[in-house]
Amino acid sequence: MKVYTNRFVKMLIEQVPQIVRRFFKPVLWRKDKNKKVLYLTFDDGPNESVTLSVLNELDRLGIKATFFCIGNNVEKHPELFEEIQKRGHKIGSHGYGHIRGLFHDDESFYEDIKKAEKFIHCNLFRPPHGHITPKQIKHICNNYTIVLWDVITRDYNQELTPEQVYRIAVKYARNGSIIVFHDSVKAAKNMQYAFPKAVEYWQKEGYKFEVL
Ligand SMILES: [Zn+2]
Repeated sequence: MKVYTNRFVKMLIEQVPQIVRRFFKPVLWRKDKNKKVLYLTFDDGPNESVTLSVLNELDRLGIKATFFCIGNNVEKHPELFEEIQKRGHKIGSHGYGHIRGLFHDDESFYEDIKKAEKFIHCNLFRPPHGHITPKQIKHICNNYTIVLWDVITRDYNQELTPEQVYRIAVKYARNGSIIVFHDSVKAAKNMQYAFPKAVEYWQKEGYKFEVL
């Protein structure tokens, strides 16, 4: 029974069902389901030991992605933040201190997003861990398009092997999917294996890649 329950919970995380998504309007989960286009996103950077290798891989694969950066990391590595944009990728805000809306009062959550604006000028926001209340969504969507995801690869999970992360990515991705990877140290081993391998698979399947 436990195995089934775990499997069910994982399925819910990797691809959140439509019925749950309806509670989070007007959040963006997925783009056009009639177009063979995928939207890669990388969260939690820029990171001095990971981000550059992601940029090089994206160049090699000939595609563009969207980076949801943490303000505190941009403050530490402005040159990497510049480099992401120079190479034609899109930027989104992931807050300043990576705090979760669900576990903070509204005002300190908004403050954190405001603080990030000193370093990141953009119109996309992704709440850390996807933790956000309907009230916060209503407030934040005055200034941002709030982006969650269609597929979360769970590359950050140390219990998963790189091959398992690759399989999650290709299992759930479909037309218009917004897919989450992380350019962080924690996710690096899984991500650096799974992301290029998945892209090569999707390219063979005829998918194109666009920024959000
Ligand atoms: Zn994050």
